[in-house]
Amino acid sequence: KPSVVVTIGMAGAGKSTFVQRINSYLRQNHEKAPYILNLDPAVAHVPFEPNIDIRDTVDYKEIMKQYNLGPNGGILTALNLFTTKFDQVLDLMEKRAPEVDHIILDTPGQIEIFTWSASGAIITDAVASSFPTVVAYIVDTPRTTAPATFMSNMLYACGILYKTKLPFILVFNKTDVESHDFALEWMRDFEAFQAALASHSGSRDAEGEPTYMNSLMNSMSLVLDEFYKHLKAVGVSSLTGDGIKEFFDAVEESRDGYEKEYLPELARAR
Ligand code: GDP
Repeated sequence: KPSVVVTIGMAGAGKSTFVQRINSYLRQNHEKAPYILNLDPAVAHVPFEPNIDIRDTVDYKEIMKQYNLGPNGGILTALNLFTTKFDQVLDLMEKRAPEVDHIILDTPGQIEIFTWSASGAIITDAVASSFPTVVAYIVDTPRTTAPATFMSNMLYACGILYKTKLPFILVFNKTDVESHDFALEWMRDFEAFQAALASHSGSRDAEGEPTYMNSLMNSMSLVLDEFYKHLKAVGVSSLTGDGIKEFFDAVEESRDGYEKEYLPELARAR
């Protein structure tokens, strides 16, 4: 069975560029071309040709007019309408499955529309109960070098892991601009992370005591330490293609976690 990669990321992290890169990587390395689903109704232009495109089924601008909604409401409603037909999409995926090794889901640029909606959960659960599935969480590495930003981003990822319970790959993108070594170090050694926090201004108050924010972040870094044990991290450049092979290695390794952890959990939940 092919692996399904659900790509999730904050707007601007480079999700579309990443999907394009993994698509061209597979084609250039004479592997089977991936089967790509675009689930973003509002994307103006995708730099690849999706096999299934939500925009062919629903027009979110029409939906905005018809239901008197703003852009976010339009996107969410478009996704909801599409989800009502998702059994047909699954059928198409099953039909093509023997010919492909990878199915890529590109999710809406407004990350929370997918991660915190009923539709997002229904789609994720539907694919994950049919195929080995992994979440690829795309991180904008150059924009996450500040300890507090790094931690917020990791807590967000942690929330998605907790919600989906799927194998998880942190994809540190844009390594051509900034190496992800700092992130690996912080993930490996929470004391290094706490030291980075402490050296940031504002970590001590006028009396030299740690500030509330600083002690809160220290406690949270201990929580995250547990989170890091459950995931894989790779650095990639979607621009140059650096690290993409390592990404696919991580996808391959995640099949194990899917079979040994996700499927038994799914069986218990039913
Ligand atoms: P999305 O909103 O997450 O889909 O992000 P895009 O794929 O549109 O990328 C956002 C911006 O980051 C664009 O200007 C891309 O050219 C740039 N970008 C994406 N990946 C990389 C990368 O690996 N390296 C560099 N330097 N820029 C990147």
